Amino acid sequence: MTQVAEPKSAGAPSPREKAVGERVRHWIGGRRVEGTSGRRGPVYDPATGTLAREVDYASAEEVDAAVAAARAAFPGWRSTSLSRRAEILFRMRNLVEKHRPDIAAILTAEHGKVTSDALGEVARGLENLEFATGVPHLLKGGYSEQVSTGVDVYQLRQPLGVVAGITPFNFPAMVPMWMFANAIACGNTFLLKPSEKDPSASVYLAELLREAGVPDGVFNVVHGDKVAVDRILEHPDIRAVSFVGSTPIARYIYETGTKHGKRVQALGGAKNHMVVLPDADIDMAADAAVSAAYGSAGERCMAISVVVAVGDVADPLVDAIKQRLPKIQVGAGSDSASEMGPLVTREHRDRVASYVAKGAEQGATVVADGREHPLAKESDGFYLGVSLLDNVTPEMDSYRNEIFGPVLEVVRVPTYDEAVRLVNENPYGNGTAIFTRDGGAARQFQFEAEAGMVGINVPIPVPVAYYSFGGWKNSLFGDLHMYGPEGIQFYTRAKVVTSRWPDPGTSQVDLGFPRTR
Ligand code: NAD
Repeated sequence: MTQVAEPKSAGAPSPREKAVGERVRHWIGGRRVEGTSGRRGPVYDPATGTLAREVDYASAEEVDAAVAAARAAFPGWRSTSLSRRAEILFRMRNLVEKHRPDIAAILTAEHGKVTSDALGEVARGLENLEFATGVPHLLKGGYSEQVSTGVDVYQLRQPLGVVAGITPFNFPAMVPMWMFANAIACGNTFLLKPSEKDPSASVYLAELLREAGVPDGVFNVVHGDKVAVDRILEHPDIRAVSFVGSTPIARYIYETGTKHGKRVQALGGAKNHMVVLPDADIDMAADAAVSAAYGSAGERCMAISVVVAVGDVADPLVDAIKQRLPKIQVGAGSDSASEMGPLVTREHRDRVASYVAKGAEQGATVVADGREHPLAKESDGFYLGVSLLDNVTPEMDSYRNEIFGPVLEVVRVPTYDEAVRLVNENPYGNGTAIFTRDGGAARQFQFEAEAGMVGINVPIPVPVAYYSFGGWKNSLFGDLHMYGPEGIQFYTRAKVVTSRWPDPGTSQVDLGFPRTR
């Protein structure tokens, strides 16, 4: 493998140095490594639609080289004291904090999201590093003294070995942090396969991890497509795979990974419903719906994509949402006046736009049409304005599919029970929210909604890092949610020790099954 010359100022790289210009390389054994497969893919600047750079795509052999580096680093890393690991994570936390603007600039350059949103992504990722600095406490086991005469039992949690993360385009910094912070804190070594659409943030984070003192080989990155993913799923030395992405791929990752004996948590797509009851504060609900539907151009797995308007709240609510739409500033993510940037690729933009067309064909009322936005018509960037579809029904294609763009749909229902039925019959179950002033109704909703994360007058209920993140139904395949306490559980396995020390004169031969009494 060919190593690439290190940048001159490894301690203070500028976002331009890191995110603009040269090809994006793999990161193996603490170094940027040039791809040898001869395969590579395009990375665009979504704001201009131009090819910004290329990214190497790994072959199976290159994945093997990264796994070998991770495997070689594992014995040393798992033997590293808890306090030393916590110290390194503290340093990484401080480096991410210090480089917030650089990371955000990289996210904006490749994903397209506006700077304020990119800074929010970094902040939510940072929380996970902060949680992981508590690893000495998080890995404390249990101890039972004198379970039998002279016998004690205790439980440890030990790392798994080499673990892998496969991540989506929409959170190129935060989702990797959801995974690697806890994984390496627990003593595992890590292989990341980030989205090929916006790969630079992962290599930047790798450089910060090295600066923080993470030993070579503990954190590795291979870029690429299905070839790299399939090798990860089959590789005998990878013990666990964390995945975040769309539902069809999540299902494939879960089925293939578990078939190869791995522990897998695979988070999939979403169609998050926001139920608005007739007693809700209309302005609060409209502000929340607009923010949660169009923030990050709707490219969030916790975005609100469906408002379920109950009873006579529908007309005033749709009016209040409609009034807010012309004020949304669409433009380049790097422009501080912009509130919503472009979509990630031209293909994705066109796919999102096609759902607005289908909605209209199938009888929805197009209250706002993002295809009419001047930037959508005239710019070479991947822009689409905001769309609002009213009178949507569950049979329509736009309702049945995850759109993952700036399109908000309104389904009108007569009663609370109908609203809950809609939420619960939807095949996705990531997040859902209710807007009401009625505490009893909210409590009933929290009790019966079939989704992993519920908001009460909160449209995007992404749990803080000391809880865990995960959906139900087609939004998660596997048993454990991601990050937080369940992340610690996912990246460790339990070992229970039963111990006794020699006590002269008490030992005897006994062929019976051991009993405690
Ligand atoms: P995606 O499923 O296309 O890609 C995710 C990862 O899988 C990428 O690394 C990609 O390279 C890889 N991949 C893509 N096709 C593959 C294939 N055929 N075989 C093997 N690997 C493949 O998802 P995306 O478009 O990058 O991200 C958007 C999706 O992610 C949306 O569906 C969104 O809801 C979902 N998402 C879910 C969560 C969550 O927490 N549930 C969070 C963020 C995003």
